[in-house]
Amino acid sequence: MNCLFCRIIAGEIPSSKVYEDESILAFRDIDPQAPTHILIIPKEHYDSVLEAPAEVIGRMTETAKQLAASEGLTERGFRLVINTGEEGGQSVKHLHMHLLGGRGFGWPPG
Ligand code: AMP
Repeated sequence: MNCLFCRIIAGEIPSSKVYEDESILAFRDIDPQAPTHILIIPKEHYDSVLEAPAEVIGRMTETAKQLAASEGLTERGFRLVINTGEEGGQSVKHLHMHLLGGRGFGWPPG
């Protein structure tokens, strides 16, 4: 298995897990870009959002909303980001959604 996130799902590589159900896993990003930086991924492998059905993207988004609430971000706001493809800055070819938020973090930066 070459896919990094499939290996995390399989438990072959450790992760800081924050949520798991039958179809979704969420864990803290190893190189956080904000006080809260969580990755939400489907357990089924899709290279990117281009291959994933709407139902999967919907489940990821609902999970992100729940995690935003448990991280205390709902009122202050947060970002959900899906980088896609080379020019979209996608470095891991397993669909993932970034949940970013926390003190001083927002858009535009600063
Ligand atoms: P992207 O650039 O959108 O493909 O995002 C990939 C993200 O995966 C980056 O933010 C990395 O810091 C993160 N990442 C890479 N390896 C790991 C890992 N082993 N555990 C947690 N996050 C990781």
